[in-house]
Amino acid sequence: MTIIDGKEVAASLRKEIAAEVADMTAKGAKAPYLVAVLVGNDGASQTYVGHKEKCCAEVGFRSTVLRLPEETSQEQLLAEIDRLNRDPEVDGFIVQLPLPGHISEQAVIEAIDPRKDVDGFHPVNTGRMVSGLPSYLPATPDGILSLLRYYKIETAGKHCVVIGRSNIVGRPIANLLSQKGWDCTVTICHSRTKNLKEVVASGDIVIAALGKAEFVTADMIKPGAVVIDVGITRVPSDKTKSGWKLLGDVKFDEVAPKCSYITPVPGGVGPMTIISLMKNTLKAGRKEIYG
Ligand code: NAD
Repeated sequence: MTIIDGKEVAASLRKEIAAEVADMTAKGAKAPYLVAVLVGNDGASQTYVGHKEKCCAEVGFRSTVLRLPEETSQEQLLAEIDRLNRDPEVDGFIVQLPLPGHISEQAVIEAIDPRKDVDGFHPVNTGRMVSGLPSYLPATPDGILSLLRYYKIETAGKHCVVIGRSNIVGRPIANLLSQKGWDCTVTICHSRTKNLKEVVASGDIVIAALGKAEFVTADMIKPGAVVIDVGITRVPSDKTKSGWKLLGDVKFDEVAPKCSYITPVPGGVGPMTIISLMKNTLKAGRKEIYG
């Protein structure tokens, strides 16, 4: 059994991106420029944006965080987005989710110019992805693909069971793995799936993205399966200084001995998500997808 080391893969890709940025700038091109828009004071969002800013600095991108107050209206946010869409200096930008309740996330996602949509959430990018055209891939699914690629995990003809059908994880990873080059036979399970245990137990590759701590147990896993755990749930703990710890969707201790490969939580899929955003920003800086 191999424990997939997301930190190692992320560090290796970060180095590659930094080398490409150094090469670009040595040739006189400007470094890619990412803007992160942060509305309100959500603690987790501030942490995520901080990590993104730090990673930009590490790979040599320029970056700015545009901080807007909690009471920013949807109209004001859309005006900022319009300004960023038209600013020729900005290669790509993200609007950190979740947004305050009075703002429609869908309206915001659809207002972003698909050419600058480095989160890959705009329906144009989703549509291009589903059609197998070049697009900005959503970060978490792309991070999973990077892990499979790095560890040279065989996917062709394998039965991949994805648990969860969200627009940001379950649905896109199911679609990507069914495409040419990955060639999985994919089943998507969700909250209304019948016989979920049996379906999951038939998976050669299981991707758990439902957000329920330790939901996947050893009896649901075929011996030798590859298990990718996307879930992150914060639970109270008296063993940590902070008073809480993170759990995945997989009961790691009992599932790991049955697997060929497994991702831990933390340290598996998590570290990959930011790297995928960096990959998209590099593509945006090079005008690689839309010219
Ligand atoms: P979501 O809540 O949008 O979707 C969860 C999905 O799971 C839904 O489609 C639902 O149908 C399905 N589901 C819920 N209960 C189920 C059950 N009992 N059986 C089968 N299916 C069930 O969640 P999301 O945004 O896709 O995130 C999923 C998890 O992944 C969360 O824990 C989230 O924190 C985590 N996440 C991690 C990363 C990362 O970087 N590692 C990124 C995004 C999300």
